[in-house]
Amino acid sequence: MTGRGMGVHSDFDAIVIGAGLAGSSMAAVLAEKGWRTLLIDRNSSPRHKACGEFLSPEAAALWRSLGLDSRIAGLGGANIDSLLLTAAEGSSLEVPLPAPALGISRYRLDSALQEAAVYHGAELVHGCSVLQIRPKRNGYEVDIRGKSERTSIEARTVFGCWGRNAASSYAKQSRLPRSKADKPLCIGIKVHVEGLPQCSRVELYFFQGGYIGLSPVEEGRHNLAALVSGAFFDRCGRNTAGVLSEACRQNPALALRLEGGATVPGTEAGAYPVLVSKHTTAWGDVPHVGDAARVIPPLCGDGMAMALRSVAMCVELADRYLCGELSLEHWKKRYIRQMRRHGAGPAAWGRLLETVLCHPALSQAALRLGARMPGVAARLFRATRQ
Ligand SMILES: Cc1cc2nc3c(=O)[nH]c(=O)nc-3n(C[C@H](O)[C@H](O)[C@H](O)COP(=O)(O)OP(=O)(O)OC[C@H]3O[C@@H](n4cnc5c(N)ncnc54)[C@H](O)[C@@H]3O)c2cc1C
Repeated sequence: MTGRGMGVHSDFDAIVIGAGLAGSSMAAVLAEKGWRTLLIDRNSSPRHKACGEFLSPEAAALWRSLGLDSRIAGLGGANIDSLLLTAAEGSSLEVPLPAPALGISRYRLDSALQEAAVYHGAELVHGCSVLQIRPKRNGYEVDIRGKSERTSIEARTVFGCWGRNAASSYAKQSRLPRSKADKPLCIGIKVHVEGLPQCSRVELYFFQGGYIGLSPVEEGRHNLAALVSGAFFDRCGRNTAGVLSEACRQNPALALRLEGGATVPGTEAGAYPVLVSKHTTAWGDVPHVGDAARVIPPLCGDGMAMALRSVAMCVELADRYLCGELSLEHWKKRYIRQMRRHGAGPAAWGRLLETVLCHPALSQAALRLGARMPGVAARLFRATRQ
């Protein structure tokens, strides 16, 4: 990674805040179009992130439209062609995916996208937090804090790609009120597992208090991601081993599946709180892209595709604004309108399915019904995505 330090003071056409999937893709496309782009992230890279690491079929077309598909193809991801759901008492349902999906670690994916941004000419800075964005005439001034210094940088446009639950409080994520952080299924954890039999499906195992997703990723490994309630996490001793042991106790099919596997040291990551958006927040002081605009339930397995879709919509309008073909007001109106059209349906279906599938009796009934009526199951799967 060739990111530069805090010596960057020149003006930019675009500052992209957050070098996750959305921000790095955004910066790569802006820089490729010739705009002087600065990409900033407060964390180091590469690093593991709490994510199911399932790249839905919808993502493939979006990579193509953003011109990033060749980068993704070279990452050695695992092919996935079906989804297996298993309830705690053992009922299961396999649904073929409408098109091929991929399993790739965020460790590999996010750093490949950052490399693409740098390759196209963006400047990348890690370890710097954006503290404040001040609108100015014809642009913005952005206050940034590094390890030991603070600086201000000016740019014509700024993009908020700072991720989940931070739409209006990018500087204060950790200070969410407790009442909000105590929602059910608010803790995400992930770890890689090696030594499991290979198969080309993503698997979801449900139990009272949450669910675990198992997705094949590169190098013959599996990514295991859990989403659990705060109460469940407390009961399990607030650690990954405890969560796995209780999930396996409740769902014997999961215990069987994980037999012979071993977690890979250094691949653990956590996310807290995972709060699903009630509304789309496509614009604050600046456009919001990716999870900053809308968080859908992780069960949908489509958050990354939704993030890419917001990149595709925003970057086209931003390019026209920077070229002087569109006013800021028109850009804002159009982007908000486009974003409102996407995401509300999948979020609602995802929430409903989470509630049903994490309830032992309901999940059993739902999966049995789905097995008898495969058309309905396939339609429900489609309802969780755009
Ligand atoms: C448990 C879990 C499982 C999931 N599983 C899946 C799945 O299987 N498939 C799928 O498609 N989606 C899944 N998702 C959703 C997916 O992870 C997100 O939709 C995706 O990460 C959104 O990307 P992003 O770039 O918007 O945000 P992020 O990837 O979160 O990136 C945001 C970046 O902004 C940086 N940042 C934040 N604030 C600042 C600041 N002030 N200054 C500088 N930098 C800042 C952060 O360090 C971070 O790198 C899952 C989510 C969770 C929580």
